[in-house]
Amino acid sequence: MTRPTAAPRIDSARLKTHVDALNALAVDCSPDASSIHLHNGRDTSLPPADLHGSYTNNRPLPTEGIADRHAYIVGSGIAGLAAAFFLIRDGHMPGANITLLEALKVEGGALDGSGNAEEGYLIRGGREMDMTYQNFWDVFSEIPALELPAPFTVLDEYRIVNDADKNYSKARLLEKQGQLKDFSTMGLSKLRQLELIRLLLARKEDLDDITVEEWFSQDFLNTNFYMFWRTMFAFQNWHSVLEMKLYMHRFLHLMDGLNDMTALVFPKYNQYDSFVRPLMAWLKAQGVKTQYNTIVLDLQIEAGDKTLTTTAIQCRHNDKEETINIGARDLVFVTTGSIVEDTAYGDGDTVPQLTLAEHSPAAGSGWQLWKNLALKSPVFGRPEKFCGNVPASMWESATLTCTHSALTDKIKALSVNDPYSGKTASGGIITFTDSSWLMSFTVNRQPHFPDQPADVLVVWVYALIMDKPGDFIKKPMVECTGNEILTEMCFHLGLIEQVDEVIAASKVRTALMPYITGQFMPRAKGDRPWVVPAGCSNLACLGQFVETHNDVVFTLESSVRTARIGVYSLLGIKKQVPDIFPGQYDIRRLLRATRTLNNDEAFLGEGILRRLLGGTYFEHILPLGPDEKPEDLHKPGMFEQQLSALRTMFEKSQTLDAPKKWIQAAIDTLRGRR
Ligand SMILES: Cc1cc2nc3c(=O)[nH]c(=O)nc-3n(C[C@H](O)[C@H](O)[C@H](O)COP(=O)(O)OP(=O)(O)OC[C@H]3O[C@@H](n4cnc5c(N)ncnc54)[C@H](O)[C@@H]3O)c2cc1C
Repeated sequence: MTRPTAAPRIDSARLKTHVDALNALAVDCSPDASSIHLHNGRDTSLPPADLHGSYTNNRPLPTEGIADRHAYIVGSGIAGLAAAFFLIRDGHMPGANITLLEALKVEGGALDGSGNAEEGYLIRGGREMDMTYQNFWDVFSEIPALELPAPFTVLDEYRIVNDADKNYSKARLLEKQGQLKDFSTMGLSKLRQLELIRLLLARKEDLDDITVEEWFSQDFLNTNFYMFWRTMFAFQNWHSVLEMKLYMHRFLHLMDGLNDMTALVFPKYNQYDSFVRPLMAWLKAQGVKTQYNTIVLDLQIEAGDKTLTTTAIQCRHNDKEETINIGARDLVFVTTGSIVEDTAYGDGDTVPQLTLAEHSPAAGSGWQLWKNLALKSPVFGRPEKFCGNVPASMWESATLTCTHSALTDKIKALSVNDPYSGKTASGGIITFTDSSWLMSFTVNRQPHFPDQPADVLVVWVYALIMDKPGDFIKKPMVECTGNEILTEMCFHLGLIEQVDEVIAASKVRTALMPYITGQFMPRAKGDRPWVVPAGCSNLACLGQFVETHNDVVFTLESSVRTARIGVYSLLGIKKQVPDIFPGQYDIRRLLRATRTLNNDEAFLGEGILRRLLGGTYFEHILPLGPDEKPEDLHKPGMFEQQLSALRTMFEKSQTLDAPKKWIQAAIDTLRGRR
């Protein structure tokens, strides 16, 4: 049983000199690694902006008077829950001083998981995850495990599951009604690779409001690379190319696991049971209060000369209007915008009916709260950029609860392990590349729900294109019942003959999400508020629609990051939140990614690198070809091949013997050879 933690009483007499110096130090809670020239010097008492690991696991000291301060957190998605966690663990705020205000009757926001085997389970999505979700794993390295006794944590459990059960896919792409399509390479020609390199080199500030299809050629959009990319991360052609760039940098270390999904890790169960349930249990044990059925309508904000101070929260609690006054030293955290707001649900026989919340200043909705804030000051950004074009931000998912049928047999054939074994099944999404809806499905580890019967499989299906008729069902997905969606899926799996049997053995529940990719909509500087918008003394914005220096959106990690930055900034905690994992600066990852994007063939200059580094201490930084072993790096050949390729690139009469000799001499000198 977790006990509430009391703020530690610190007798700082012996550390006074250093504590005073620390208190006087100006600490940027969210340093920007992409704008700092890394060096050691008299000005570097703090760790580098993106240092991760044990040295950054220090516990900050409590700030003055913390036991008497209170915090109100609007929204109990992972951002809100993480804010409560960091207030307690790093801010030393008593849990009983924290209140979560949640519009719904359940916590978790996008992290859902409900239903049962009889009526059908429901998940709006699955969670592809990465080992470098540093802030997220920091939280869950402290939260008691679900199925292990104390002192084990959710992270311990997650590692046990994933360390011994590698995720990979053997059927990432399908076509022609159930035929495997080659997904071994990215299919990028040299010119298409240059389009990507151009994006990596572009400055962030030069990409305002530019879309993916404006940046890339049509040929690029037809490559395997883009198929992997858009279906894995849910990018649309009309989305922000800046977001795509940020993803490239943030996940550059995953590039060689993009095609077969070896880059990913997954939870054992659905995201509600895996993460929300244990985190919520810990917060409750700490005394955190949750007020459900409470929609926050607006904040009263007093504008000073250069400051904005939140003085009250106006909300509707169980249909009654209430005002919560905010004390002079109290804090407010608001989740601005939600990708799952206004989700419409359907089932096997019904079509989800979209009813969007009325967006007027007095109407209660998450988006409206952000709009109301934006009316008060430009520092809160422009919410309509993200929620103002529903056809462009909407897609639908379906959850199938399946007993044995031709569908489960087919799933077995496409899975890397027996899907009933508890181990990785499909290993991530499988995409029908010739589907007009661009439909994908995934079978995560089973059972996906703790109470799921052993003979049931839970399958998640989604599609990206919402306005085109299907290939068998001649209607757009949004006009279909769950059984019609299942029929379209059976068509693409080559199971149309058996569709009646499959429908009889499956329950379908659907979720149409009008803002699911609102966070990817084209945006420009100033469209999203900073975590603590300029001038705000006691208000932080959390979630997916908030500016950070380098993090991406549509991840668990980025919501947790905003929560942590918000808590540290408002409390004045003398500690940095490390910037994104610095994999993009690791030469090994860069070389590996370069080769992967070059369809796993040697890239220009790789021959010289092999000549230079082969047989030296640094040999291991060189990427290996698909069938190569480390000892193959010593084989001659690539250097000469690349030189002769270069030769043909230049005018025929030009001889490269002289430069070749010069390069060889330089290499020999460098390596101490005569
Ligand atoms: C289908 C799907 C697939 C996904 N796949 C992945 C994935 O593979 N990997 C990954 O890392 N991430 C994934 N994500 C993203 C990730 O789950 C979300 O980014 C994250 O959970 C968002 O959390 P949040 O707390 O910021 O917002 P939300 O989860 O949207 O929570 C916001 C909460 O605030 C409440 N709220 C909002 N406004 C108000 C108000 N005015 N008053 C009271 N309450 C309010 C809402 O009711 C809601 O509960 C996916 C999400 C979905 C939906």
